[in-house]
Amino acid sequence: MLTTHMNYKTDKSFAVEMDSKDPISKYRERFYIPKQKNGEDCIYFCGHSLGLQPKSVRSYIEQILKDWGTLGVEGWFHVKNPWMIYDQILIEQTAKLVGAKPIEVVVMNSLTVNLHLMMVPFYKPTPSRNKILIEYHAFSSDQYAVKSQIQFHGFEPKMSLIEIHPREGEDIIRTEDIESLIEKEGDSIALIMLGGVNYYTGQAFDMERITGIGHSKGCLVGFDLAHAAGNILLKLHDWDIDFAVWCSYKYLNSGPGSIAGCFIHEKHSNNSELPRFTGWWGHNKETRFLMGPNFEPIEGAEGWQLSTPPILQMAALRASMEIFDEVGMERLKAKSDLLTGYLEFLIDEIKSESISIITPWDIKRRGCQLSIRIQGNGKVLHNKLTSQGVICDWREPDVIRVAPVPLYNTFMDVYKFSEILKANIE
Ligand SMILES: *Cc1c(COP(=O)(O)O)cnc(C)c1O
Repeated sequence: MLTTHMNYKTDKSFAVEMDSKDPISKYRERFYIPKQKNGEDCIYFCGHSLGLQPKSVRSYIEQILKDWGTLGVEGWFHVKNPWMIYDQILIEQTAKLVGAKPIEVVVMNSLTVNLHLMMVPFYKPTPSRNKILIEYHAFSSDQYAVKSQIQFHGFEPKMSLIEIHPREGEDIIRTEDIESLIEKEGDSIALIMLGGVNYYTGQAFDMERITGIGHSKGCLVGFDLAHAAGNILLKLHDWDIDFAVWCSYKYLNSGPGSIAGCFIHEKHSNNSELPRFTGWWGHNKETRFLMGPNFEPIEGAEGWQLSTPPILQMAALRASMEIFDEVGMERLKAKSDLLTGYLEFLIDEIKSESISIITPWDIKRRGCQLSIRIQGNGKVLHNKLTSQGVICDWREPDVIRVAPVPLYNTFMDVYKFSEILKANIE
């Protein structure tokens, strides 16, 4: 089923034409594209795991190294981009990216760490309301985190963890099923914690609706946006989400293991009742260096920071966020829908029984990733694709995940991928 109202065509000239008409095609040049042995560009469809390196990262990092080398500790204050306020521009850009107010976002730590930190205020189980709702096939780290939190509070994951499943024979979890589960069990659910876009199926959840129904039953609602940030349009503030966490090394291209993001809704920004783990970097900036014994939080998300921020990682993120700021998520999502729609069309045109797409066809319910289920030996197929210059990802038991990323992938990448896929299917 076509979703983008575009008359896609199977011949190569269509890809050439689409690339020539692409208003944001020039951004590919801002990234290093991994090369094959023969010197040609790889078809890099792995932005869902590690985004490519912006060429500007090097100069951002070198600036920090230079300032550190020439001025030592003075770099905190007396350089062009003082480290003391290095995060401020990131906060502005991040707020725009996720549809938040600056007071609602911060960059800190890494993803799983932030998920745990956010469960301190937002998972407060009681004997009658102690459950956490997650989605079936949630990312392993999220499953471990929520289970360990349940245990930490003296409850049993067997009793307190609910997984919402797709229906028998289906892959996508229906919103109405999520709703009816929350309607039925909401009184015992303390926290709803779903992936904004599920890493395995590529399904984007209806965050606004789920948050609304969750709140109506008295649940708190958070999302893991690892596969959503930089991929789909987000309006975290308007959707009234309590908290969200994400990493920045996938679609946000800030480099392996780089610094992560965190959103806490403004309505919680002055709530001193919320339990929190504290550190000096969350302390009122005016008096932080008086080193007093009593913690006084910065208002909003920044008050949840613990430690001195890693400036080198922030520099890498800054290079990438500058590009996002320039392009804007609206233009990215517009190209993304066309590009992924084209990929979907070409895969359908292969008309093979041994492949099927499990990602939703509705462009509101997905980002750029398509998850392709392979009948037969998918791992062998994945190896063949790799040896022919495609970088994509294999997930047990039977799925290849491909993500044409609108920032740096082309329609020609999609065309070539589909030709290689077709040639290697049994
Ligand atoms: C990538 C990913 C992670 C990884 O967490 P790190 O703490 O950055 O290692 C966790 N959860 C989800 C949903 C992810 O997609």
